[in-house]
Amino acid sequence: MFTCVGYGASAADKPLAPLSLQRRETGAEDVRIEILYCGVCHSDIHCARNEWRSTVYPCVPGHEIVGRVVEVGKAVTRFKIGDHVGVGCMVDSCRQCASCREGLEQYCEQGFVDTYNGQDRHGRGITYGGYSQAIVVDQAFVLDIPKTLDLAATAPLLCAGITTWSPLRRWKVGVGMRVGIVGLGGLGHMGVKLAHALGADVVLLTRSENKLADAKRLGAQEVILSTDAQAMTKEQGRFDFILDTVSAQHDINMYLGLLKRDATLVQVGAPGEPLPVAVFSLILKRRQFAGSLIGGIAETQEMLNFCGEHGITADIEMIRMDEIETAYDRILHSDVKYRFVIDMKTMPSQISAL
Ligand code: NAP
Ligand code: ZN
Ligand code: ZN
Repeated sequence: MFTCVGYGASAADKPLAPLSLQRRETGAEDVRIEILYCGVCHSDIHCARNEWRSTVYPCVPGHEIVGRVVEVGKAVTRFKIGDHVGVGCMVDSCRQCASCREGLEQYCEQGFVDTYNGQDRHGRGITYGGYSQAIVVDQAFVLDIPKTLDLAATAPLLCAGITTWSPLRRWKVGVGMRVGIVGLGGLGHMGVKLAHALGADVVLLTRSENKLADAKRLGAQEVILSTDAQAMTKEQGRFDFILDTVSAQHDINMYLGLLKRDATLVQVGAPGEPLPVAVFSLILKRRQFAGSLIGGIAETQEMLNFCGEHGITADIEMIRMDEIETAYDRILHSDVKYRFVIDMKTMPSQISAL
């Protein structure tokens, strides 16, 4: 084992603070990564504050990890020291079930291992995420970062990017489709960029008037204020596909009503409480309401390569590690453009008091 410094929550109502972490030594299949940048996902807040009621403390969040390989195990073939690599939301799965064999590790029938707050499959305890100096990950769950992309701005692709890419691909979003993205936060702004790059006509649905200009710059052809009842009524039945990234309680029926006959709304935003569905929003036009969870490893690599070819990264605001609580507050006020990324050089090198 080796010790490194991380930042984590000791309880749901405690601010994140520096703590000392024990990481495993590099096994035969492992890659040891010096973390350079880590994106800040709204899921980090849900988890650190136990909003999904499944958090084990201490909780060290972070699943948008980009770093440099500093050590490789004897059996590692895919990476070498010095490579720039990424780690997303998963660090392991059973690798044998039907889902794993199809490259859908996120739907592993035995449950994939979360990068943080996950239960290691080999009895090594709870996993700790990317708000830390280093991480050791099996090579099968490590991604290659295209050389053309800015490293810090690539970190958010590892969750916000793949979580929006996977449903856009699954529902074959492309040219000739009118696609709604609900919410312009970390996921939403990647959804706008990726759907636009796939050739769709993108419409952003937002509550925030101050995001109109940005949405157009990011690739939306139109922006609709979801608080404008008249505008929303006019849009009834006009969308081929909608991706909902909203992190809090909201009226899902208002968005289901925007779908054409047979069209689908995919929910990726994950509020802790149920979203009541009025069945007639679905029945009357044979609409579908679906969910989607991150994306598989091969699909994540495909998304990274696509972003490399198209020059797509996230719009980021870089923060120091000790600014994390302010960043969380700003995310909760929808005041982020459009992803915070922690510069890991600002992690304290030692812990004065625990
Ligand atoms: P974020 O940056 O906070 O963005 C969420 C956006 O939702 C906000 O910017 C805001 O957009 C909108 N919003 C917030 N509260 C709202 C409300 N009460 N009513 C309507 N709109 C509201 O969060 P994120 O990091 O993108 O994550 C979004 C959600 O996806 C979180 O719940 C996260 O846990 C979840 N997630 C799911 C997966 C998955 O695999 N399914 C993966 C990653 C994250 P506007 O200001 O434009 O309205
Ligand atoms: Zn995430
Ligand atoms: Zn499996």
